[in-house]
Amino acid sequence: MLSKLVIRRSSSYFVPYAYYQKLSARDKATYRRSDAVERIALRNASQLVPIVQALQAALEQDNQRLLRQMSQQLLNEITGFLETPPVRIKVLARRPSDDAEELHGLYEPTEGSDQAVITVWMRTAAQRRLVAFKTFLRTVLHETCHHLDYEWLKLEESFHTEGFFKRESSLFKQLTRSRRMEQQSLELG
Ligand SMILES: [Zn+2]
Repeated sequence: MLSKLVIRRSSSYFVPYAYYQKLSARDKATYRRSDAVERIALRNASQLVPIVQALQAALEQDNQRLLRQMSQQLLNEITGFLETPPVRIKVLARRPSDDAEELHGLYEPTEGSDQAVITVWMRTAAQRRLVAFKTFLRTVLHETCHHLDYEWLKLEESFHTEGFFKRESSLFKQLTRSRRMEQQSLELG
């Protein structure tokens, strides 16, 4: 039985998350397409450094309006570069939660003429502390990857696959790596 779940790829084995087994044949095909793409190359990543820096400063200064502006600008650059429809971002104050879990981010796809919307929060639910910069950026990029699944990869559904998380990490690394390089070159003078 297990062998059915192991699909050979060129150099590695496809081992899906457990929920894969419950998907329809059509969704399984979408899952596999999602899993196969591991990277989103942002060739303009180094140009996005000042935006990512301004975003971090706005979060650390607890400036909700500026944080929303910078987050929106980052998304505009990413969707512009990848030539997908834009996505609007809402930055709200405190994360909603129930006893079981705390919501970090939310993606609502395009409906009719309405633009797709990402919602993220600045503060944790329990402690009401500001969310750490890396967590905030990761959340924004995670929700962006849902948008890109529909609009860039043209998938019917956006599943959490290994490929999905690798795409999220690839965006994160590119945006923070060039930021480190920038900081180093500033330090070097
Ligand atoms: Zn998600």
